[in-house]
Amino acid sequence: MPKDFLQGAKSHYDVIVIGSGLGGLTAANVLAREGRSVLLLEQHYKLGGLATWFKRPGGHLFDISLHGFPHGMIKSCRRYWTSEIADSIVQLHGVRFDNPMFSLTTSFDRNDFTQLLVEKFGVESQTVKAFFDTARGMNFYDDQSLTTGQLFEKFFPGREDVVRLLMEPITYANGSTLEDPAITYGIVFSNFMAKGVFTFQGGTDHLVKSMQKEMERNNVDIRINCLVEKINVTNGRVKSVVVNGREINTDAVVSNGNLVGTIFNMVGEEKFDRDFVEQAKAVRLNNSSTQVYMALKPGEEIDRDTGDLLFCSTAPLFRTNLLLSREITSRTFSFYYPDIRPASKERYLIVSSTNANYDDWAKLSEEEYLASKDDLIEDTLEHLEKYVPNCRERIEHVEAATPKTFEHYTRHLAGSSFGTKYEGLAVSRSLPEQIRGLYHAGSCGIIMSGWLGTINYGVIVANDVLNYLSSTAPLPAPSAT
Ligand SMILES: Cc1cc2nc3c(=O)[nH]c(=O)nc-3n(C[C@H](O)[C@H](O)[C@H](O)COP(=O)(O)OP(=O)(O)OC[C@H]3O[C@@H](n4cnc5c(N)ncnc54)[C@H](O)[C@@H]3O)c2cc1C
Repeated sequence: MPKDFLQGAKSHYDVIVIGSGLGGLTAANVLAREGRSVLLLEQHYKLGGLATWFKRPGGHLFDISLHGFPHGMIKSCRRYWTSEIADSIVQLHGVRFDNPMFSLTTSFDRNDFTQLLVEKFGVESQTVKAFFDTARGMNFYDDQSLTTGQLFEKFFPGREDVVRLLMEPITYANGSTLEDPAITYGIVFSNFMAKGVFTFQGGTDHLVKSMQKEMERNNVDIRINCLVEKINVTNGRVKSVVVNGREINTDAVVSNGNLVGTIFNMVGEEKFDRDFVEQAKAVRLNNSSTQVYMALKPGEEIDRDTGDLLFCSTAPLFRTNLLLSREITSRTFSFYYPDIRPASKERYLIVSSTNANYDDWAKLSEEEYLASKDDLIEDTLEHLEKYVPNCRERIEHVEAATPKTFEHYTRHLAGSSFGTKYEGLAVSRSLPEQIRGLYHAGSCGIIMSGWLGTINYGVIVANDVLNYLSSTAPLPAPSAT
């Protein structure tokens, strides 16, 4: 008989959280800490969503999305998770750029960037200060008509090299382009510039296990291998979810799954106003990614000067569409050293990441798809050679992930790495106005994506749910199932 992953689950919970990405985990933890009964349902056999890892023979542990996040994670993890988690966050010191316009190493904070812009790029210091102050002053409620491209043009007209320095890492970090509203750039850029780039020492496996322990302490009922097929709504209010063929009642649902998938696949458009459906249909998904995971043979090491994060490109100029092209010119290499990413055996790992278009991969036949993956690996090794000499002989394991891989493991439509474009945020925020008790807390709107964005969004939405639950009479007790 197949295993019942819902064995012992109750027939009713105050809140059901669908998905265990960082947004879902955080919402579940905050709600449970406030005494609410919470059921967390994850369709995969592991928690973490994109913040996850995998193991390969030889003791290699690869992280999928642990490349770097802003300092703000320390505060958020201390407040909404544990001191132990917050204390494991450490700074990455070697952030490098290497492209036909410039090569440099930076601590990626305001002081260092100011010095670089003034001394290496020859920009007036008042201009640099005014730019940083403007970016820092941006917030969610600002005018959204100014694009990031226009913001750069205002401060650094004609300076493609400066735009590349300022934009390339942020495009990598949240998929934003020069055409997106400037606030999607300003908020994320300023978060990084506050103190630099940070990582979790110990790897995603350690982080997610610590989070699981904390949720168990707060009595979250955690279930893996549980795919939510439907969110049932009656009289404009959330009633239950259908998971693994079973219906479980609830007063509120927080979906951490893809926003568009939540609306059209889990709820169904007939449950929403027509205007809202039109607005939701107009939401664009953000781009996806490819990655190549590489592990060095036992005894092989990478020189520390290679850096932690390397933004490299062979494109003569910076163009956001080039960053998505299947003809890859730009890659971000993350180097994992044994002190930062410990495993049972001391190993050096490299992950190459590139933003990508889903269609470039999804339309291929099986044969073409496999050939394209091989091609991606070959091309990556060729470019890595410059930074890790003789890498082919020194690497013992290599494999690639594509937009289809991300789609498969997270059920994000089109394998989206960062949820939706900016317009998704308003749709996500207005879900409870359409259906009482229905919330979304997951990557969307560019700002609410990435590790810090999704954790903070999980907190914001958990607080909305707490307010809703305390202002609403509970549904009549359902009959036992
Ligand atoms: C290659 C790559 C590199 C990245 N690098 C960085 C980085 O360096 N720094 C950074 O800050 N961010 C990075 N990100 C982005 C970051 O990982 C994500 O923004 C963040 O982890 C997303 O969290 P989330 O809460 O939106 O949920 P997700 O991680 O998207 O998880 C959603 C969860 O919902 C589950 N789910 C979906 N549908 C259902 C269903 N019907 N029933 C049950 N469960 C369901 C999925 O299985 C999944 O576990 C990267 C992303 C990618 C793809």
